[in-house]
Amino acid sequence: MGCRTWKIFCPVTAQLIAKSKTALTLTKWEVTKHNHVCDEQFYESLPSTRHRLLKDPEVSKDVTLMISAGAKPGKIRSILRSKGVGRISQRDLANFRYVNL
Ligand SMILES: [Zn+2]
Repeated sequence: MGCRTWKIFCPVTAQLIAKSKTALTLTKWEVTKHNHVCDEQFYESLPSTRHRLLKDPEVSKDVTLMISAGAKPGKIRSILRSKGVGRISQRDLANFRYVNL
C-alpha cells in the first residue's frame, strides 16, 4: 500500500450540485485520475472516516467499555477491525479517551 496519508494534493475534482441539505448530485468530473491508490483501505484511513466511525453510538459505547475495562489499545483496535469498524489508529483511541473519558 503506497499511500497512508490524505495530504497528497490529489488533483481529482468534480462538479457537484446540492439537491437538498443532505444530497449531492455529480454533474461533471473535471479530473478523474487519482495520484494515489484509491480503494477501501485508503478511504478507511482518512481522518474524517476514522473520526466518523468512532462517533457511531454503538462503536463509541463498545470503545468506552473496553477502555474502562483496561483493554490495551492494540486489542481494542483488533476487536474493532474484526467487527468491520475499520482502521482506528492508536492516536484516535488516545483522543477518544481524552475527549470522552
Ligand atoms: Zn484522489
